[in-house]
Formats: sequence, C-alpha cells, structure tokens
Amino acid sequence: MNFSVKVYPQTMWGEKYQGNFEALMDDTAKASINNIVVPAFQGTRIFYSQPLDQSENPWNLLSLKKICHERGVGFATELPLFHDRDSFEKNESLRPQSPDAKIYSPSDWYRPICPSNDAYMQRRLQFCEEAMQFLEPSLVTVNFLWYPYWPVGQEWETLGTQAPSYCFCDSCRSRFTADTGLFNAAQDVEAWFAFRSNILSEILADLEESAQNLKSPPSLVIEIPPAPTPYFAERLCRLTGIHLGAWKNLVQVISPQLFYNECNLPMERACEAVDELREFGYSLFPQIDLPSAAGDKKEMRAELHAFLDTLQAAEIGAVMIHSWDTLQDFPEMFDLLAAFSA
Ligand SMILES: [Zn+2]
Repeated sequence: MNFSVKVYPQTMWGEKYQGNFEALMDDTAKASINNIVVPAFQGTRIFYSQPLDQSENPWNLLSLKKICHERGVGFATELPLFHDRDSFEKNESLRPQSPDAKIYSPSDWYRPICPSNDAYMQRRLQFCEEAMQFLEPSLVTVNFLWYPYWPVGQEWETLGTQAPSYCFCDSCRSRFTADTGLFNAAQDVEAWFAFRSNILSEILADLEESAQNLKSPPSLVIEIPPAPTPYFAERLCRLTGIHLGAWKNLVQVISPQLFYNECNLPMERACEAVDELREFGYSLFPQIDLPSAAGDKKEMRAELHAFLDTLQAAEIGAVMIHSWDTLQDFPEMFDLLAAFSA
C-alpha cells in the first residue's frame, strides 16, 4: 500500500518546522510516507511565486517540490476551491444564505463560499490554473468542489426529498430561474438538485480543460466529503451537488474523505461508503483521519489496522492520511504503516 499525507501550511511554516523541509521529509519518511499533498493556496494566500513578485515568496512550495524530488517522494497539490476564510470574513455578500435569508454561520474551521457566484468562481478557477502552471504537480487533488455543507448535524440523516438549507443566495436563485424557468426550489426540489449538480459539473469540466491545456497536464483527483450510508452517492448529491455518475466522464480517481473520527461515527460506516463507491468504477484514493490523541492508543491502533485490512481487501492500493498534524503525534502508528507499505 502506498501512503500519502496531507500537510497544511501552519505545520510546514509553523513552530515545529519553520519551513525546514528537510526535517519535515525526515519525519514523514519515518512514517513510510510516499507522497506529500499540500494546499497551493489557503483563502486568498498563495504558496508559489508569481512573475511580478519583487522578491521571492517566502512561502514557496517549489522548494518543497524540489526536496521531494531529490528524496524520491511524490509531490501533489491540493486546490481548495469553495472554502475561503479570507473572502468569507471580508465580503458578507459571498456568504451562503438559507431560504429565509439567514447568513451561514460558521461551524468550526469551515468557511464556504457559494459556487453559484460566477464572478467569484471564475477568480477561483484562475487561482487553480495559476497554481498548476507555477507548481507543475503531476497530481492535483481538488477539494471543496461542493455546495456549502458541514457533514454533521440533523440534515446528515434526514435529508432525502427536501432541499438542503444552503445555499439560497441571490446567485443561486437567479441562476436557477435562468436555467430552468422555475422560481421556487422548495416546490421543484428535483430540478433544484439537478441545477446544483450541473453547476458543479461545469466547474469541474472547466478545471479539467485548464489542466489539459498545461504543458504537462496533471492528473486530477476529486475529493468528496463524508456522507451517510446507505445510498451514499444519492445522499451526497442531494447534500452537496456532487454527481458521481456525471463526473465519471470527467475524472478517473476520487478521494473520499472517510473521516469517521471527525464525524464521530463507527468505522463500519466508512467501510460501507467504500463498498458503495466501488460500484461506480472510479479508482479510489481514500482519505482516513486519525482519532484524537487523547484516547487509548492500543485500541486506536487496532482499529486503524482493521480499517487498512478492509481497504486492502477492497484492492485499494493508495491511502491518504489526514493529516500530518495528527499523524506526527502518533509514532505508535508508524510501524503499522510500514507493515502495510511492505
Ligand atoms: Zn448560493
């Protein structure tokens, strides 16, 4: 099994590593990591140099890419599309709205922007294109390509036939009417689901086209958030707009975020999601999260072992650990990863 790990900027440039990529690579090698996945930008901050920069960007991922290359470790970039703390904080009109015009109130770290907003979406796609141009990664993971969605809470289990709470902003309403001739999403809920899926599919097609136009086109991997089982794909579509059936023509690999720890679910639910996803014929590159370091380490290790066994039995050859921030506090897991890498 091949292991990737997602590394966030606050880890790379924060207190522990302070941009010392050699130390970061030494540590990840101890955990049998073959690939590093890093966001190319966060909010509106970018982590690569641009032609008009007056001096070199101190947070330049090209240096990390070079070191990865020297060490024989893969370098991939994450493009976080519609999660943008900076724009969310600065521009209230970009915040998602509920049917009764309530502004989205943030949960935890997530700051969604609505994909229906065409001007914002175009800017965001340009960010992605530039990041791919400058960093020239061979692999790109596309994250947050979905309508505002926080995978915990009431809607998680109950949503089926009613429209989700977000988003009903002016852009969503006017584009829905322009595309369908309909006015009320609550009355024409199936048309509403289809409308959202179409918008996301168009964005994915644009992104895929930008990637293909590059000198060395990267492979796109699409990250998808946790959703309930059974009927994972259908619920995912209704909750987020992601249409796995339609996306099959655009991408080959999806990376389901099987964050059962974060969602406080039993591991079996994540295994059920994998089972259902296999039927779509995508290559799967699952992401697994680790439990909080406060629990019983022996028990956590046994559970991770069982989970990796299940993934291996499903003929999954590559797994992404989410994230180095938590894995680095778990040296107890390193020999387990080594055993599965062998
Ligand atoms: Zn909206």
